[in-house]
Amino acid sequence: MSQCVEPIVGKILAGWRYDISGLAPEMRGDYEQHFADCEHCRGRQKLHRIIDISLIALASVSAAVFLLAFAVIRHFGPRHAFLLEVGALGGFALSALIWLIVAIATPAPMAVVDAAKLGARHVHDRLPAEIRERLPEDLRMKITGS
Ligand SMILES: [Zn+2]
Repeated sequence: MSQCVEPIVGKILAGWRYDISGLAPEMRGDYEQHFADCEHCRGRQKLHRIIDISLIALASVSAAVFLLAFAVIRHFGPRHAFLLEVGALGGFALSALIWLIVAIATPAPMAVVDAAKLGARHVHDRLPAEIRERLPEDLRMKITGS
């Protein structure tokens, strides 16, 4: 992998886990410029966002599995059902907690929103003009940002 073109800036960004979404727009400029110039930090930023989103996805799947286990135990009512139910609900609560921590501590939700907006914009750009015209004004503003 290539080296950072400006290690001091690179170190600051690393401390933030390459997340500048919380910065005020007027402070963000220099760092955005650095991401544009520096392949190293760009790669790292992408990697960290992939990790964040994977964690959220993993916690979601885990919560769903525990919930499913709870439903199965309820349905079949095996012996020791109560203990198993407590275990399944505990697992669900833990997964939900991890999900919440990741959602609060990382910019994963913003990354998902950005990706969704990008997707919506692609769809919007491909719509025939007469349909695009009929979209409510505020919705169009949200998608295209103009
Ligand atoms: Zn860099």
